[in-house]
Amino acid sequence: MRKFKTESKKLLDLMINSIYTNRDIFLRELISNASDASDKLHFKSLTDTSIKAGRDDLTIDIAFDHEARTITVSDHGIGMDKDELEKNLGTIAHSDSMEFKRSEEAAEQEKQGDVDIIGQFGVGFYSAFMVASKVCVVTKAYGSDQAYRWESDGVEGYTITEADKKDNGTDIILTIKPNTDDDNYDEYLTEYGLKDLIKRYSNYVRYPIKMECTKSRQKPKPEDAGDDYKPEYEEYKEIDTINSMTPIWKRRKSDVKQEEYNEFYKSEFHDYSDPARTISVHAEGAIAYDVLLFIPSRAPYDLYSKDYKKGLELYSSNVLIMEKCEELIPDYFNFVRGVVDSQDLSLNISRETLQHNSQLQAIAHKIEKKIKSDLASMRDNDREAYEKFFENFGRGLKYGLYASYGGRKDVLADLLLFYSAKQKKMITLDEYLKDAGDSCESIYYAAGDSTDRLGKTPIVKSVLDKGHDVLLCTQDVDDFCMSAMRDYSDKPLKNVAGGDLGLESDDDKAAAKEVTDQNGDLFSAMKDKLGDRISKVVVSTRLTDAPVCLTAEGPVSLEMEKVMSQMPDSQGVKSSRVLEVNAKHPIFKTLQDAQKAGDKDKVDAYTDILYDQALLVEGLPIDDPVAYAQAVCKLMK
Ligand code: ADP
Repeated sequence: MRKFKTESKKLLDLMINSIYTNRDIFLRELISNASDASDKLHFKSLTDTSIKAGRDDLTIDIAFDHEARTITVSDHGIGMDKDELEKNLGTIAHSDSMEFKRSEEAAEQEKQGDVDIIGQFGVGFYSAFMVASKVCVVTKAYGSDQAYRWESDGVEGYTITEADKKDNGTDIILTIKPNTDDDNYDEYLTEYGLKDLIKRYSNYVRYPIKMECTKSRQKPKPEDAGDDYKPEYEEYKEIDTINSMTPIWKRRKSDVKQEEYNEFYKSEFHDYSDPARTISVHAEGAIAYDVLLFIPSRAPYDLYSKDYKKGLELYSSNVLIMEKCEELIPDYFNFVRGVVDSQDLSLNISRETLQHNSQLQAIAHKIEKKIKSDLASMRDNDREAYEKFFENFGRGLKYGLYASYGGRKDVLADLLLFYSAKQKKMITLDEYLKDAGDSCESIYYAAGDSTDRLGKTPIVKSVLDKGHDVLLCTQDVDDFCMSAMRDYSDKPLKNVAGGDLGLESDDDKAAAKEVTDQNGDLFSAMKDKLGDRISKVVVSTRLTDAPVCLTAEGPVSLEMEKVMSQMPDSQGVKSSRVLEVNAKHPIFKTLQDAQKAGDKDKVDAYTDILYDQALLVEGLPIDDPVAYAQAVCKLMK
């Protein structure tokens, strides 16, 4: 017996002990796997004509035995060899190197109803153990001579032995658990129960799902039947296709119930939650096509990892020709799942010719517009749902703006939401402008770790005090996105921690110049002390309560520097830091006095402390925390 990897075992325990309560989905999971295995063989057949793998050959067969308490799901797909059995069924979530630590966290959240643990890990196959006390997999890989049997009770481990099986494909045999006081498993061992599950969860699987069904027919009328003959009936068995297979994307939205879309989405795209939005398009004309798109209600765990692959399923006349056609969807809408079907596309379309396929480009263009308008309508008509969507996928939209150097502004800018310091909620850039009124000249934003903390910084407060709203940006991509956009509706986007905000009056500026002229010695002494750490010391026109603050001149902001320094290949990009001094603050008088008295030590020590404080307020690390602590202690003594 081979043991399950520890992490698999823990996850199995969690699952079997029913963190996930909807055990009905086990059949959908097995059928989806069977359908995937059939797809794989079908794809192979596109290049290898010796393989016969049309839709009618690749049936998925369901059988049950009430006495023996077994359900068997069979496919005639690609099958697995011994190594694949070991790798695919011996470890949960083998495909990603997720640590179990995260799954425990997830389990904790799941208990609180926040996330869906099974969905996160794609432990589809293991859901069989929610209803089965034993699972046996007999499989033969396509092209191989040897079949194998994998067997497990889902507790400690599993065995793999050689087996006999004529054709390629996989049989999954579940031994259904006995009923308990609380749970009735017998319902799965009936024709009605299984048919119901198939229709409910797997209706649109593109391969016929076949099962032997009991039917009733009238017995032939005996020749000697008298006038009072009453027709007699008999039962017989016949194999039926249970799923409808009619492509749901061909049907008009008005004819399809949302639940049907939801079930199709979940079974086709392996998600455990209903989609947030369903978009259906039917185009006729120069090029005819049907499109069915879904916006998931939560981000897949790997959305922001480089392994994530975007793309829509591409069909030509109901035949799947590509599982993830990237060309159909822009990167910033990479979370959208769905199907595109067009009889006008050539069947032997290849990866290379795709990019230059003008029909495909036309469809992609339409899809982008459709997604955009759907999102805009959600933004305007269901703000709560939109905020949730944005929490999940907003980062990708912002990244799209940054990656296109602002080029996709027309599509993306008005889909963005930012936290308004003034209104204390998420708002669009348009709403910022509306609130600011006609006199608005710029859109102000601040970037940092948390809205709470940002809202308290002297720089943000000084702008708020002047009556302007400030958008508080807390995602690493925000500052980059804002500077890539440069402006919105002709109003420049300004980082409040940047140089000239255009908020000070002429009087303010004149007063600042006067102070600068009068204190030339002090400022150069401070600059000398700080050296390369800053580019200059200036009199601030914005500070009210705080003695100093840090800002940045030029294209790289302090926040960008912070984000870039965390990247593995950061090339030490630095912002050009400016120390702004508040001339109205009592500390400034202290500095002036020390300078006048020629007390260089004091000027130096205070300059260091003030600079470190400015860093702390900005959430930036200070170079020498020990020296800072000692300097402050010295003052306190
Ligand atoms: P997922 O389907 O999300 O990858 P599963 O736990 O359901 O996760 O399955 C794990 C892997 O086992 C699949 O990715 C597939 O490679 C393999 N597998 C499962 N069922 C079958 C099947 N019927 N035929 C061939 N391979 C299968």
